[in-house]
Amino acid sequence: MEKIFLDILRPDDWHVHLREGEVLSNVLPFTYENFGSALIMPNLDIPITNISLADNYYNEICKQIPKAAKFTPNMTLYLTDCLSKDEIRKVSTHKHIKAIKMYPKGATTNSDSGISDFKNFYHLFEVMEESGVILSIHGEVTDEKVDVFERESVFIEKVLTKIIKQFPNLKIVLEHITSSDAVNFINEQSMVAATITIHHLMVNRNIMLSKGIRPDFYCAPILKTEYDRRALVQAAISGDRKFFLGTDSAPHVEGKKIASCGCAGIFSSPLAIPLLIQLFEEHSSLKKIEPFASKNGRAFYGLRQHKDRVRYVKRPKSIEVIKDIKTSDGKIKVFNPYNEIYWEKEN
Ligand SMILES: [Zn+2]
Repeated sequence: MEKIFLDILRPDDWHVHLREGEVLSNVLPFTYENFGSALIMPNLDIPITNISLADNYYNEICKQIPKAAKFTPNMTLYLTDCLSKDEIRKVSTHKHIKAIKMYPKGATTNSDSGISDFKNFYHLFEVMEESGVILSIHGEVTDEKVDVFERESVFIEKVLTKIIKQFPNLKIVLEHITSSDAVNFINEQSMVAATITIHHLMVNRNIMLSKGIRPDFYCAPILKTEYDRRALVQAAISGDRKFFLGTDSAPHVEGKKIASCGCAGIFSSPLAIPLLIQLFEEHSSLKKIEPFASKNGRAFYGLRQHKDRVRYVKRPKSIEVIKDIKTSDGKIKVFNPYNEIYWEKEN
């Protein structure tokens, strides 16, 4: 039987949570084995709020990456009051810090240090705009008066448009977009790009809520409607330079996911690429995987394109895939909404 395969430029993950300590050691291999680089989020228990903390975290990560792995960790700083203009200028020429991440206070895991009034940071946005430092944004308002399903759209309308108006040359990545509103908005912008996760491309809020609650699909920003999911898929398979893959893979042990107040976050690194290939294949768009997963992000971040390719092979029968990983605090479930997966990386 003829072998079906797909060669793609090494993909990157433009949004990942690797955590620290034991969990870091457990999840990191799935990132360095499947991706050429990753943008690592700064929301640790003690947030990465300055260059020195980012350097330490970078070193902790690098120590655990085998020499043979072709992987580069890219770091982010957590935007807080403590960040100075000087520090931002240093970031602009820093070797592995690639963005400053803005969390609205309380939007997701470890976002208590996030910000409540965006205007207080305009003096820093000014320096970022001047020096070409990218602002990466968790785009949701956290006002309890705003419905949880509307928070992204309200953020775009009430906050993001103001920032863009004030700083038209500031490069912004709106992270993990979830809605057709966000897709439409990004399509109209020139300096703003967006990451899209695997889970927002594959599941919707009905799947999460209509036949019993599925805590494994609970994430922030929360899953939206099927209409929104389809808009995200169209954006991803369009090949448009402003959309690229950021898994937002965010491991939590089962005890924290399945609880009376469960954590938001989906661990998707291990099967991210096979799932993505299968989804693009369903939409007859295998040729658009490279722009979405390998090229657009690098272009936006001003990095040289990868040269080497990785080969994925389609097996005639569905393959046995990893279901979870084990830690001393319990299992972490791997995101996989498909019953059958046919694609795997050829080693
Ligand atoms: Zn995230």
